[in-house]
Amino acid sequence: MKAVYFYTHGGPEVLEVGETDTPEPNADEVQVRLRASALNRSDLWAREGWPGLKLAYPHILGADGAGEISALGEGVTEFKLGDRVVINSSIGCGRCSLCQFGKDNLCRDWHLLGESKRGTYAEYVVVPSRNLLKLPDGFDFRSAAAAGLVFHTAWHSLITRGGLQADETILVVGASGGVNHASIQIAKHVGARVIVVGSNSEKLEFADSLGADVLIDRSKSENWSKTVYLETEKQGVDVVVDNVGAGTMPLSMRAARKGGRILTVGNTAGPTFEIDNRYIFGKHLTIIGSTMGTIRDFKEVMTLIFEGKLKPALDRDYPLEEAAQAHIRLAAGKQLGKITLEI
Ligand code: ZN
Repeated sequence: MKAVYFYTHGGPEVLEVGETDTPEPNADEVQVRLRASALNRSDLWAREGWPGLKLAYPHILGADGAGEISALGEGVTEFKLGDRVVINSSIGCGRCSLCQFGKDNLCRDWHLLGESKRGTYAEYVVVPSRNLLKLPDGFDFRSAAAAGLVFHTAWHSLITRGGLQADETILVVGASGGVNHASIQIAKHVGARVIVVGSNSEKLEFADSLGADVLIDRSKSENWSKTVYLETEKQGVDVVVDNVGAGTMPLSMRAARKGGRILTVGNTAGPTFEIDNRYIFGKHLTIIGSTMGTIRDFKEVMTLIFEGKLKPALDRDYPLEEAAQAHIRLAAGKQLGKITLEI
């Protein structure tokens, strides 16, 4: 099959286009002929590598994907050849007690597709059948692939872990990232008031188009936690979504109200920062971290996507062969919404 892969870690130039073995499904697995993939920041990190990361090379990136079922493993009865499907990239073992009790993203043998398993920058991929959902007739592969990881992650963080309620105010730090654009929509969907801090006016316009109620430009308002404070009648917000990390977390803690929750699923600006512990105990803050979501979360949020109640914003679409160009665009942070690959 044709795929984009790499043998050594490094910049976008390590990505090669070529032929590699087509994966075949084992029992309870399904082979999908991919039609669309979408990029995530984790693709850039896996490509660059980190100490201790050991992959089977050549490695194929890509967590998100949608396409048609092209082969069925033994024991798979809920799908048939040709079914149009979207992939849940959060893969648990399916057997342990955590998987059995619906906490599959806590599985000890957990994998993210494209990170520790060969992913979707390819014509074919194999995943467990429980990691697939059928697409409604007419729902396009590109939107399905674009929605997958980011809406799944945001739903698990805001709803399942964060317990966001309709009468609450939520601050989203960052306006245009994939998970943030999903978080803004999910928060509006449940009826919360949404404040967004963005790095420039273009990104804030994008947040505005997604339904954000209050926009704060941090290029003009350096101490944005004070602006948040004033926007909330000097109470602070109930919930903060901070997936930026370095540089923003101290201000996020200041922007939270007493008893507030800080949600984090990542750190696009870097993982290491100082925390003033007085904010945590003095304000009774709860910090809730998570990665990806459960099979149930995926079904819940994708149902809303299929119904058009949540909508992935689509940035540029590149042919699979131009994945390196797509990586350059993602790394530059210029995208508004999801960058996708056509396969
Ligand atoms: Zn498990």
